[in-house]
Amino acid sequence: MFEQVKLSYEMNALEPHIDQLTMETHYGKHHATYTKTFNELAQKAGVSDRPVEEVLASLDKVADETLRKGLRNQGGGYYNHNLYFSTLSEAPDKVPSGKLAEAIDKTFGSLDAVIELLSKAAAGQFGSGWSFLSTDKEGNLFVTASPNQDNPISEGTGRTPILALDVWEHAYYLKYKNLRADYIKEFFEVLDWKVVSENYEKAVG
Ligand code: MN
Repeated sequence: MFEQVKLSYEMNALEPHIDQLTMETHYGKHHATYTKTFNELAQKAGVSDRPVEEVLASLDKVADETLRKGLRNQGGGYYNHNLYFSTLSEAPDKVPSGKLAEAIDKTFGSLDAVIELLSKAAAGQFGSGWSFLSTDKEGNLFVTASPNQDNPISEGTGRTPILALDVWEHAYYLKYKNLRADYIKEFFEVLDWKVVSENYEKAVG
């Protein structure tokens, strides 16, 4: 049974950056539905007892095309939103720490530089999708964008996402309407680099 991540904050706690109605709709409806549907499909495919990362990394082993596409979309939606919601906070650390701080400086030069790359990737994603900061097993960092509910795992890169920025319209349209760039800027106001730093340490080991 795949569980939707529990929020460590109230639905209105991210105001004014992310509003309560968006949270209620996004977490309470969209993410809940991805979770429910993914559970149904995973049961059908006989992969309910496997970690979601493993399911997304081995989609090519699912012979039935409809089931494979369903697992990619619904499993991706389940995983991506767990990552997204778990990295938001009403009292976020505004800078990364430890090994991630070092890796960001080494790879991108500064925190501002990686935020700019992530923002550009998110703003430039045509239609629905995400931008990701991900790492390989050696700790190298990558900024990428993916369409739909794809991510670096389902794309077969072998990398682990540590930060996910949702730019589906449902993530911002109720408050920001067509102004995706404004939402992206506000996302970083509630992004907790403490959690992202922990995600990095876990992924690199
Ligand atoms: Mn979303």
